[in-house]
Amino acid sequence: MTRAALYLRQSMDRDGRSEGIDRQRARCRSLAESRGWDIADEYVDNDVSASKPRGAGTAWHRLIVDAKAQRVDVVVAVDQDRILRGIGDLVTILDTGVRIATVDGELDLTTADGEFRATLAAGLARFEVRRKSERQKRANAHRRERLLPAGGRRAFGYTKLRAGAAVDWPKRVSSDGTEWPDYGHEPLEPEASAVRQGYAMLLAGATLRSIARAWNADGLTTTVGQRFEAYSVRNVLANPRNAGLVAPPRSAADGGQSGAQNLRLSDLPVGSWEPLVSPETWAAARDLLADPARRSNPGAMPKTLLSGIATCGVCGAPMKAGVIRDIRSYRCSASPHLSRKRDDADHFITHVVLDRLARPDAAEILRRPDAPDADRLRAELLEAKAGEANVLALVGQGLTTIDAATATLRDVRERIAKLEASLTDAGRVNVLGALVDSAEAAGDDYEARWAAVAEAWAGLDEDRQRAIVRKLVGIVMRSPGKGSRPPRDAAGRLAHTEATLALTWH
Ligand SMILES: [Zn+2]
Repeated sequence: MTRAALYLRQSMDRDGRSEGIDRQRARCRSLAESRGWDIADEYVDNDVSASKPRGAGTAWHRLIVDAKAQRVDVVVAVDQDRILRGIGDLVTILDTGVRIATVDGELDLTTADGEFRATLAAGLARFEVRRKSERQKRANAHRRERLLPAGGRRAFGYTKLRAGAAVDWPKRVSSDGTEWPDYGHEPLEPEASAVRQGYAMLLAGATLRSIARAWNADGLTTTVGQRFEAYSVRNVLANPRNAGLVAPPRSAADGGQSGAQNLRLSDLPVGSWEPLVSPETWAAARDLLADPARRSNPGAMPKTLLSGIATCGVCGAPMKAGVIRDIRSYRCSASPHLSRKRDDADHFITHVVLDRLARPDAAEILRRPDAPDADRLRAELLEAKAGEANVLALVGQGLTTIDAATATLRDVRERIAKLEASLTDAGRVNVLGALVDSAEAAGDDYEARWAAVAEAWAGLDEDRQRAIVRKLVGIVMRSPGKGSRPPRDAAGRLAHTEATLALTWH
């Protein structure tokens, strides 16, 4: 009597079509019975990932031991993937002398001789590799179609996507009352807040390195337990997953990187999970990260408040930081014809910026008529996309020719490009939001508002302070005139500095 061993393994492939143990058992039994084999034992592995070794304690290990001891004649599994994860496994199991049969019939060594096995093994190894990659691609495509996030390792900021085949997920309600499918992929604190903070910092001009420092200081690590570096922060922030957008397939052409940076925002389908930031914020960050200047030298930001922002009143060149006769200064980057005391200028600009943000109309800064309205832009973008689709449909139905439609398509595509750019700008406006919010929260009293804004300001790193200055005001530095000396009292110095700075509020 041939003794059959059933090998059953819960698949870790999140392809939505994995087979449960019970179903595998039924199919394997039915094969064994049809061949008239005696079922000697069952070997059940749960959650043994394809990348982990199947060592002692696993059913696979026990199966090999039993096969070597010739307690088993044939191993039955539903398919090759269930039992063999590579050429190594095949060699291991063939060395025991045991035969293999799969329900799907792709692998049947119950009649093969040794030489045939060896030939087959080589073919199988190649087949295995190709099949695995095809299966992975299919699984990913399947997830994208269902607007699910990509599987695999847990993403920073989110809990791990649950494996399984369910189509109708139960709902969960997020803190703002929105319903989301409960498939295990939801914001995970404190990482989710760190991701939001990371975008805010990046858009305010912070370096990837300073974001990594902030995350490390908060005791956060990557999902494989590493300290954050600039590149790992980039990997987190570049991921469209954070904006609830479904990433396009990875292609070999971009070195396995997601192709999201080459796509328009409207080309990325909106996923079915809770976003951490708006699509505009993500798109603005993506553009910043794609900036080649930033890529080649992410740490090289000026470290003084006004260098590169203020310009020379004599020639218009940017002012740069320097030290002249032991005094911290800003000086014209083109010529030694102008320099100003750095501390006085920084103090004055900080003063006027805090004043501007503490004023009752500070919120107006965010509501200027030229400030982009993200909701309106989004609606217009959808409209433009629909227009593009309509034209293409007309061409497809033969109602117009592609030549006749070309001008219209060009117009609508230009419009889409403009709207994409404006939406990305809308993401950058958020830089000031936090400061204005802190003023609003302090109520109507000017002193209280000032104190709240000053506290928030002091908590920002230089990169963000610089971004806010740049956003609010243009600064031209002028000479105070020969022999002019600043007064010693604070108010006098402020007035003296004011006289040499021409401000243009944006
Ligand atoms: Zn100059």
